[in-house]
Amino acid sequence: MALHPIISFLTQETCFADHLSLQVALDRKTSFKCNAQAAAVFSPTHVDEVGLFLQKTAQAGFYYLQDFHVLGKGSNLLFRDGGYPGCLIDLTRLNKIETIAKDQVWKLDAQAGVGMGRLLQLLRKDAYTGFEFVFGIPGSIGGGIRMNAGTPDGWFSQVLTQVQGFDAYGTYFTQAVGEDDFLYRDFPFGTDKIITGGSFVFAKSTSEIVEKKIALAKVKRDRQPLSYPNFGSVFKNPKPAFAGALIEEVGLKGYRLGDAQISEQHANFMINHGKARFVDVEALIQTAQEKISQEKNIYLETEVHILGEA
Ligand SMILES: Cc1cc2nc3c(=O)[nH]c(=O)nc-3n(C[C@H](O)[C@H](O)[C@H](O)COP(=O)(O)OP(=O)(O)OC[C@H]3O[C@@H](n4cnc5c(N)ncnc54)[C@H](O)[C@@H]3O)c2cc1C
Repeated sequence: MALHPIISFLTQETCFADHLSLQVALDRKTSFKCNAQAAAVFSPTHVDEVGLFLQKTAQAGFYYLQDFHVLGKGSNLLFRDGGYPGCLIDLTRLNKIETIAKDQVWKLDAQAGVGMGRLLQLLRKDAYTGFEFVFGIPGSIGGGIRMNAGTPDGWFSQVLTQVQGFDAYGTYFTQAVGEDDFLYRDFPFGTDKIITGGSFVFAKSTSEIVEKKIALAKVKRDRQPLSYPNFGSVFKNPKPAFAGALIEEVGLKGYRLGDAQISEQHANFMINHGKARFVDVEALIQTAQEKISQEKNIYLETEVHILGEA
């Protein structure tokens, strides 16, 4: 297969050499352990390096979302079997948390690569509330902002006050945000941006309250098939219905193709028994969509983002 032009460009630019890896297996970069490769992964350690990457690639005529893409912790991403031909910007090394003020509320800035679980543990230790809903979500702050990650008990949009990042040409922005800027599993402003961090506010509470909320979240997580690689919910819930219940009602719970299977434990999860191929995952997704459309007259929209070549 011919090399994507962005790969030749990046390998010739010496300023990227320290943080550029070629032919990167994506099983370690995705929670589903996708059996594919990325032609290149750029892993910046400083926000300025992200800006430089964007400016230089834009000047050379490459486009965000076409020639390169952002990777958080890969817990909501699937790659087609042919892999990703361009460059992924892996933001997980941008992982600083900075306190702005800490009293009755804790105001802090967290970079895109900070794990949601790490921030939750920090808040838990000092009994600040508002982030317990992320318990068990294996994503990054950047991915959480982009996806407005959450559960019925809370969403990113409820604790975020500002988002920082770059547009596709490498111009830095800070953007104040409120709940109205977000949708269910979406942050429209962030669609064509590279988010490098967010500012959050959490209220002081008591350990008893925080632990109670975490215990409730844990009960829900115990119903999920977490012993297998998965990518969280396959479909968005078509409110007021639940995707998992619909899949179960049309008899697809446990349906398996190759190493990909609709979980027997939770029908809106798909699990990887080892070497699941994207074509099998895709066929399971399409089968569920078709059956539910025919039998229930409801269209299920995928929640997971899909990248790469067939
Ligand atoms: C076991 C399990 C449970 C889950 N439970 C939940 C849940 O309860 N609620 C929920 O909402 N989700 C859940 N998820 C899905 C997933 O964890 C979330 O969507 C999470 O926010 C994704 O973060 P990430 O860092 O892994 O993003 P990735 O999967 O790496 O990326 C997701 C998308 O966001 C984009 N993106 C990532 N980072 C950035 C950035 N910095 N700037 C711009 N774009 C970016 C990517 O390009 C991609 O399009 C679950 C997943 C698993 C595996």
